[in-house]
Amino acid sequence: MKIICIGRNYSEHAKELNNAVPTEPVYFMKPDSSLLTRNRPFFYPDFTKDLHYECEIVLRINKVGKCINEKFALSYIDAIGIGIDFTARDLQQKAKEKGLPWEKAKAFDFSAPVSSFIPVAEFEDIEQIIFSLKKNGEAVQYGNTKDMIFSYPSIIAYVSQFMTLKTGDLIFTGTPAGVGPVIIGDKLEAFIGEKKMLTVNIR
Ligand code: MG
Repeated sequence: MKIICIGRNYSEHAKELNNAVPTEPVYFMKPDSSLLTRNRPFFYPDFTKDLHYECEIVLRINKVGKCINEKFALSYIDAIGIGIDFTARDLQQKAKEKGLPWEKAKAFDFSAPVSSFIPVAEFEDIEQIIFSLKKNGEAVQYGNTKDMIFSYPSIIAYVSQFMTLKTGDLIFTGTPAGVGPVIIGDKLEAFIGEKKMLTVNIR
């Protein structure tokens, strides 16, 4: 499986990192070795001094698709979860300055903690999901998927022009404003609506 991550999909977040609001989706990938499941702890890597959380709604792909038409794109998602797109912001900043790829900053081991998944049918409206992140009990990020610049169908249609989507692939849909650093000892808790979905203790 592969993990596709959409960058700069909430305009307030693009602005907080001084990035232009994109006119077409920006995406990058994380390998399967970046997955962290079952609320396991995350061990702070020694190659960064500025590790940031980015809380994001995650889509699970349930069938193979290539060049998917936007009209049918939602039928390729069977479940939704929440995850953290951990980012070594210092390494990413260096890469951005030199125009180099982001993998070192984004695709390291366990950089993608993901919750369990809720079937799409259990949501009233998957395009208006309220989600939030607490750090040490204090709310730091709050999002509503209706504020995404690129909707789920447009993301799926766009990415599948270039890459075949396969069963079990995950799509991180971008983070709202409020990203920030973590240090050893911090506790992150991610919520969909009122429901706590994911806990990540930083060790
Ligand atoms: Mg992100």
